[in-house]
Amino acid sequence: MRRRITFPHMGTSHIAIRGMLESIGLEVVTPPPITRRTLSLGTQYSPEFACLPLKINLGNFIEAYEMGANTVVMSGGWGPCRFGYYAQVQREILKDLGCPMEMIVLEAPDSRITGILNQVKDLAEGASWLGIIGAVKFGWEKVRALDEVEMMAQEHRPRVADQGAVERIYQESLKEIDRAASRKEVRDAAGGAKEKFASLGPDWEKEVARVGIIGEIYTVLEPFVNLNIERHLGRLGAEAKRSIYLSQWVNDHLFLGLMPGRGTKELIKNAQPYLNYWVGGHGRETIGAAVYLSQLGYDGVIQLGPLTCMPEIVAQSILPLVSAREDIPAMTLYFDEHTGEAGLLTRIEAFLELLRRKKANRKGTKQLREA
Ligand code: SF4
Repeated sequence: MRRRITFPHMGTSHIAIRGMLESIGLEVVTPPPITRRTLSLGTQYSPEFACLPLKINLGNFIEAYEMGANTVVMSGGWGPCRFGYYAQVQREILKDLGCPMEMIVLEAPDSRITGILNQVKDLAEGASWLGIIGAVKFGWEKVRALDEVEMMAQEHRPRVADQGAVERIYQESLKEIDRAASRKEVRDAAGGAKEKFASLGPDWEKEVARVGIIGEIYTVLEPFVNLNIERHLGRLGAEAKRSIYLSQWVNDHLFLGLMPGRGTKELIKNAQPYLNYWVGGHGRETIGAAVYLSQLGYDGVIQLGPLTCMPEIVAQSILPLVSAREDIPAMTLYFDEHTGEAGLLTRIEAFLELLRRKKANRKGTKQLREA
């Protein structure tokens, strides 16, 4: 039976995954964008205390199955958190529901890049090595372009009057990257986005609060889960910067840091005085990012995580110490299927107000000293 491949949604990653898999001739079924239905399907059939990403991804697979997918490709994990069990748990649930799907888990066994390339070769059903390497490069180009566009949107949101235009350009640019059929076209799409954003005439002199979004990768990258927190921050006059972008996750997790660009290893070093042990997920990176962003002069950090996420609970318990010693205000937000947008807005508005007062106090003290 010919494989019809699907995968879990996580932010904009579907654009790069689809591009890469289709370029080696595989048949791809992209799950529909995450909606309340996806969440409700996942929640209905998952164990109550499973992590939110597991539930949403299960919803993705059920919806993709309805569209004819028969194979799931996802990344694997190991260590002290639950990620390593996702595929097995989801496979059993799907089987019980009468939608059996083959689960292919890509991971870098024994920290060898050849391991993961061999797994892609098996999946690619007869594609040549040259074709596979070309597909990986193509997917990587898309991942980097997607991150560039994300960063441009984050920088422009608080600095332009027409915020609707930022969202339009952002969405158009994602579509262009999705349509791009060669690495050159991907580069052109990213270049085009840069010009379009620049045409909005951003006010680079405007004083904006700079806020780091740190925490669990899925909650940081998936706007459906974090209720579009970056967009809300932008509308409220704050620039968001993530502790981890898609390209860093792909590089660290699948390419073992071999691709050019900044990975998360430095964050782990930054975390050392506070947390010098791997607690699973991105717990250490969360702490390291708070330290790093404080050194960069960021005004505050917001930690995001799914409710009951063990690595983020560990990080949260250390964050007050980091916040006090590194002089960076921090707030933690957990998300589950019951989290509402109104509550989120109230909390980020209050946090931004705190950052503004702190900044104003600092300025006042400095002026007094200079007078
Ligand atoms: S990092 Fe958190 S959300 Fe992800 S699998 Fe581990 S416990 Fe669950």
